[in-house]
Amino acid sequence: MTTGEMHRRAEEAIARCRRLALFSEDQGSTRRTFLSSPMRDCYQEIARWLEPFHIPVRVDAAGNLRASYPAAKSGAPKLLVGSHLDTVPNAGAYDGILGVMLAVGLLEALHGRRLPFGIEVVGFSEEEGVRFGTPFIGSRALVGRLDEELLNVQDGQGISVQKAIEEFGLNPAEISQACLSAEYIGYIEFHIEQGPVLEKLGQPLAAVDAIAGQSRLEVTFFGRGNHAGTTPMHLRYDALAGAAEWITAVERRARSTTGLVATVGRIEAKPGATNVIAGEVRLSLDVRHGSDEIRIQAVEDLVEQAQEIARRRGLTARWKTLLEQRAVAMDPFLVAEIERAIGKTGGAPHRMVSGAGHDAMILAEKVPAAMIFLRTPGGISHDPSESVAVEDVEKAIDCGLHLLDQLAASSLIRERM
Ligand SMILES: [Zn+2]
Repeated sequence: MTTGEMHRRAEEAIARCRRLALFSEDQGSTRRTFLSSPMRDCYQEIARWLEPFHIPVRVDAAGNLRASYPAAKSGAPKLLVGSHLDTVPNAGAYDGILGVMLAVGLLEALHGRRLPFGIEVVGFSEEEGVRFGTPFIGSRALVGRLDEELLNVQDGQGISVQKAIEEFGLNPAEISQACLSAEYIGYIEFHIEQGPVLEKLGQPLAAVDAIAGQSRLEVTFFGRGNHAGTTPMHLRYDALAGAAEWITAVERRARSTTGLVATVGRIEAKPGATNVIAGEVRLSLDVRHGSDEIRIQAVEDLVEQAQEIARRRGLTARWKTLLEQRAVAMDPFLVAEIERAIGKTGGAPHRMVSGAGHDAMILAEKVPAAMIFLRTPGGISHDPSESVAVEDVEKAIDCGLHLLDQLAASSLIRERM
């Protein structure tokens, strides 16, 4: 493909993302949640872009858009390429959507050429967890985990996932048909990094080798509420001062361990008055790392530190684990191939851990999965100012084409034929 064509295709992918951002539940900003009516418009628009291929474009029973580009021979395996089409409220145009537009762009860049495997473009119906408070509804259907329990989860209006599917005109009884069969050989997802790392490194692309595991805890310090004017400093049991000491310990612990991120994002002090020493303080703790061992050790250390601080100050500390999610490794073969493809675009090979969850993490339960991150200007995402550079999208298309050719020539395919 000429550099002129590459540039044109990159500009088109960006323009399509911006066009889809107009399909929104809110006026003046983008919000597109699971099976909302703008989601239908979004599907129709993408189907229109896919018309020149004369391939079947369908919406499966979990609301995922799926379009299958055939292989050179019938009965060949399929590679899934895509990302999600839903958004957060007041969203940017590229989170998720760009991965789907790049999949469409890659098909176009093939100029009708058929590969030893088919390519299925997938646009997941739900990843962000906005409408039902539960993420990955779309991709869970592909691994057979859109189960009864999830179907019964209700949104703010009391509408269940099941009901939402029916109201959209889909049949929940067909959800099992959305599940991936043995013919699928892998899943590739392009996604904006949504962080500052690649920008800092001056690199347009990176291979994601793992999705970080996560621990979420609630930690509470108990002291004694008392009068702020009449209680001398040495006779206080100030829960908020203890919590403050612990917050800086959390930051210190994360800073001293490569790749570890730890955040106290919420704090609630009781009674919460200017002239009262806080008697009870509740905090949130979010800890993430690509290695479960390192993450679990960090959480243990931080809990121990909370107890030590509490003891020293005459307070008590209690904690509750709210979420414990293991790290998910991306497929080593695909990661290596992505790295090689990035090298062919002139980029330096770089691997990184994704601190955020993605559909690839769910797909990895069933098929080899891997991701390619694109540099995110300013590291800004989940905001209307989210952006992407046209040169970086060009590199992504170039990388994608190299990757498809590499996979076509690889033993992964030969063994299956
Ligand atoms: Zn996303």
